[in-house]
Amino acid sequence: SEKSEKTAQWVRADRDRLMHPNLPDSRTERTVMVEGRGCHVRDSSGRKYLDAAAVLGVMQVGHGRSEIVEAATAQMSSLECFHIWETMSNDKAIELAVRVTGLAPPGLERAYFTSGGAEGNEIALRMARYFHYRREQPERTWILSRKSAYHGIGYGSGSVSGLPVYHQGFGPVMPDVHHLTAPDPYHAEAYGGEDVTEFCLRELRETIERIGPERIAAMIGEPVMSVGGAVIPPPDYWPRVAELLRSHGILLIFDEVVTGYGRTGRWFAAEHFGVTPDIMVTAKGITSGYVPHGAVLVSDEVAATVTGSTGFPIGFTYTGHPTACAVALANLDIIEGENLLENAVKTGGYLADRLAPLRDLPAVGDVRQIGLMLGVELVADKTARTQLPTGAAPVVQALREDEGIIVRGNPRSLLINPPLVLDRGAADQLADGLFSVLERVGTDGRVRP
Ligand code: PLP
Repeated sequence: SEKSEKTAQWVRADRDRLMHPNLPDSRTERTVMVEGRGCHVRDSSGRKYLDAAAVLGVMQVGHGRSEIVEAATAQMSSLECFHIWETMSNDKAIELAVRVTGLAPPGLERAYFTSGGAEGNEIALRMARYFHYRREQPERTWILSRKSAYHGIGYGSGSVSGLPVYHQGFGPVMPDVHHLTAPDPYHAEAYGGEDVTEFCLRELRETIERIGPERIAAMIGEPVMSVGGAVIPPPDYWPRVAELLRSHGILLIFDEVVTGYGRTGRWFAAEHFGVTPDIMVTAKGITSGYVPHGAVLVSDEVAATVTGSTGFPIGFTYTGHPTACAVALANLDIIEGENLLENAVKTGGYLADRLAPLRDLPAVGDVRQIGLMLGVELVADKTARTQLPTGAAPVVQALREDEGIIVRGNPRSLLINPPLVLDRGAADQLADGLFSVLERVGTDGRVRP
């Protein structure tokens, strides 16, 4: 048929001309997506999938929202592109800055716009070092981060990411970075019998002493680890970390690129922990991915210090891009107007109840949920809590191919971040699909037919 002819052409051209992250040469199959509506997307052969990854955790309001298309069209018709540079500004960037600082925890009063998460973390790291430089403490260059963290793949953001795959083979990483142990309550046995928070705090205290507080600029962390596996820290971890950092004049950077804009059932995950960082990096959900965008939200003190009498010297071409800002405003209108935070809490809770019995399956170690951010940890051995030799890849593939459900995976866990518009029907489809595949997983990680 014409459809399969066209698909074959696309697949050939994709293999010949397009580079994919994370795809070995030996894999020749492709899934070519051509349209989306709500929580579902459709490929070039006409097959429909439940997008339970919300693309890569971006799609809060669902696919195909005409309100956003109209906002983008209107903005492009009046002023498609302009920069924020020296005294130049634009109306949509100003409106969005007011809007996002109004949503953020009190204390984060200024916005610096980017085109994505990695860019935001680059800016945050530079702001942190520059803050101390401007306060005549230029020796404060060290950045504390955490193992298993993901902050994007820029030079700085990739260096503070804590997964070895982002470092190996890429030459020298950014100097003056230290990776701490991240809290992971499911693997409490790995903390030598100590309470998870106590362990992490002791390690942080010892690290600060060893490096010297007068040499440390900032600590960066995802309030809830996303790529690391939807790992939710104990409730006292962030408040105690924040207090210790503050006592040493070390800035706290929260990477809310995934958790921001309702993913966890609050506007920002910082609210769950009652902690306001000095710098908060956001992206993804700010536009639901309709166009790339991000916002770094900064305290008045940091903003005023890095700006100073000569200005903060770095900016991107697309900082405050008016079309992206107009899309963000329309997207935030939908999140608010449709009470999507409430839906994340309600439908997330419903899913957690439905998925709880997964824990009885031999291959499932843990099910974690906060809002519509879920992780299912897969194990080869439930007692030893060891990971499957294959990681989650065969399960991710079986979910897609057998059940028409798209999720992501890492070596230990399934990462499930559905759109915040997820309804009961789609939640049931997701839960049923997960049961049907996870029941068939062996200790070797393979999925039985
Ligand atoms: N920070 C976190 C927590 C992320 O999960 C990601 C991407 O998944 C990033 C940063 C990087 O964002 P981007 O891919 O937009 O550069």
